[in-house]
Amino acid sequence: MARSNFFPPQLITFYRELAKMVVPEDKWRVEEEKLKAWKGEKPLVKEAPPEIDPEFFLAFTVEVFDLLRKHLPELGPGLEQVRANLPENPEEVKRLAQALCQRDPIAITWLKDPAGVPPDVFGFAFSHVTRLLLAAYTRKARGLVDFSSWEKGECPVCEAKPLLARLKRTGERFLYCGVCSMEWRFVRVTCPFCGNDSAGELGFWEGAEGYRADVCYRCRAYLKTVDERKRPEEGADLFWEDIRTVALDFAMLGKGFQNKSFIAS
Ligand SMILES: [Zn+2]
Ligand SMILES: [Zn+2]
Repeated sequence: MARSNFFPPQLITFYRELAKMVVPEDKWRVEEEKLKAWKGEKPLVKEAPPEIDPEFFLAFTVEVFDLLRKHLPELGPGLEQVRANLPENPEEVKRLAQALCQRDPIAITWLKDPAGVPPDVFGFAFSHVTRLLLAAYTRKARGLVDFSSWEKGECPVCEAKPLLARLKRTGERFLYCGVCSMEWRFVRVTCPFCGNDSAGELGFWEGAEGYRADVCYRCRAYLKTVDERKRPEEGADLFWEDIRTVALDFAMLGKGFQNKSFIAS
């Protein structure tokens, strides 16, 4: 289940509570030498994967699942199936955590009985776990890695498509990854989804309060954008900006454009 464009109020409460959960520094590690040696050939998380303490990972997962069940009780039975099938062997738990962070589709095979688990619930539930783990990873990576030579439309950390963009007052555009919270600079007049750089086939729809949606007439993608040149403050948290602008998603979908953030790359 990709995260939908619809946010019921209980999901917003869920996200608020989730935001309070912390990933302690001493519960995961990454080889800093590998981070620093990154040449930009493969996404960072594949070259230098995080290693997560298996005991912490299981406890953290159960905590996120409990929070989900509290706010979305209809997911209860599916969550219970996933939980009952979590591996116990620490080595397998580590592999599961790593595969999830690398967005590797084999992740589900680390469960005890993958066939007995609804894949939708597995994907949805773990997307929240990995978002928090990867946010910690990305924060660290941004302090150690030089991303300035990365020119692709996909995230340099995890290879996901951008969820949102930020137009800075300098005129530069930064893309935001909803999977790992990375932001990276990307040329203005190019569609990050299909590479179209023909100005005549690109445009944007102006929304209210400094929001807009950049569109590509070639691949029909839209990308919600926070235009900091038109806002009193800079540095808004794009995770929340995405949730705040659901009306813009509906408007763009209604015009026949597509949200391509969730399409696997
Ligand atoms: Zn990413
Ligand atoms: Zn395009």
